[in-house]
Amino acid sequence: MAQRVTLIPGDGIGPELAEATRRVLDASGIAFEWEVVDAGEAVMAEYGTPLPEHVLESIRRNRIALKGPITTPVGEGFRSVNVTLRQTLGLYANLRPARSIHGLESRYEDVDLVIVRENTEDLYAGIEHMVGPDAAESIKIITRAASERIARFAFEYAVANGRRKVTAVHKANIMKLSDGLFLESCRHVAEDYAGQVEFEDRIVDNMCMQLVQKPDLYDVLVLPNLYGDIVSDLAAGLVGGLGVAPGANIGDAGAVFEPVHGSAPKYAGLNKANPTALILSGVLMLRHLGHQAAAERVETAVRGVIEEGTRLTYDLGGTTGTREFADAVIERLTAGSTAAAAPAPA
Ligand code: NAD
Repeated sequence: MAQRVTLIPGDGIGPELAEATRRVLDASGIAFEWEVVDAGEAVMAEYGTPLPEHVLESIRRNRIALKGPITTPVGEGFRSVNVTLRQTLGLYANLRPARSIHGLESRYEDVDLVIVRENTEDLYAGIEHMVGPDAAESIKIITRAASERIARFAFEYAVANGRRKVTAVHKANIMKLSDGLFLESCRHVAEDYAGQVEFEDRIVDNMCMQLVQKPDLYDVLVLPNLYGDIVSDLAAGLVGGLGVAPGANIGDAGAVFEPVHGSAPKYAGLNKANPTALILSGVLMLRHLGHQAAAERVETAVRGVIEEGTRLTYDLGGTTGTREFADAVIERLTAGSTAAAAPAPA
């Protein structure tokens, strides 16, 4: 039976990346049934909201979604659809792996980090107000329940994936109560994994410097929402940039797979943007669904095209278009299956 997946193409570069990714995943050997739904500015006029109820319903029903980026107006307008989606569906864990790809020029060759970002609270709770005309206040929410839940997710991920260490990242020297509670919660959860997974903590500013200088010292990082957002872009920069950085938002009721990057409006509709981040988000989705072999095939095909180096998108130093990059990945995927299907020589 086909695997039904909610597909939210998004806006900006989203639709062209979604189309490329869908074609690649359809060539993975797994049968998908895509339920395409739209969200964002473009649906405001029709539904009066950028995140219509039928979009949430589709994800709740299928429990799995692949999503392109959605633009958020800056300083005014509606709240981020991306944040609202994660909060409404309780997708509390944002998983963002950053692994070096051979053939990509970057400062380091063997970065292998996994960023686990708390996805539901912190300054992203969106509780802010003006205090008179000339001051604004944002409220940072950190709870023991959400902090322990994300810490446990990070340790369980480490155990399931054979990772050696979890580092909690915070600013508890300054935000003694909020980040202090986050750190205390991580330490508490770490006790359950003593002897199994190493645990340490770092102050976020020092963490940023260390990641730039010595990324090989780190493995799985667990962070509150805002630091997680910033540090995951830093980690993406260590392995080739936003064009290759995938992500997953995971909760008890379902999971939404989306790249780290945004809608890059200036590249929209130009067939220029790199679909790798969304395709690799699709790889995370295949793994989440238990299709390990198909995930491996797609990831190997993407890495193969990049390593070959002749058909790269602009951000990786090439001139290949979004569609043509996907074609190159599909060629590799189908070449493998044609060879496998060919009769053995007599
Ligand atoms: P962005 O990630 O969209 O773009 C920053 C730059 O990164 C681009 O100008 C481009 O040079 C590069 N880039 C990003 N994706 C790329 C790709 N696939 N291929 C090649 N180059 C790529 O960040 P931004 O400009 O800060 O945000 C634009 C919009 O996206 C904003 O409205 C923001 O709120 C939104 N956003 C959405 C999400 C999401 O949907 N989850 C995430 C981040 C930002």
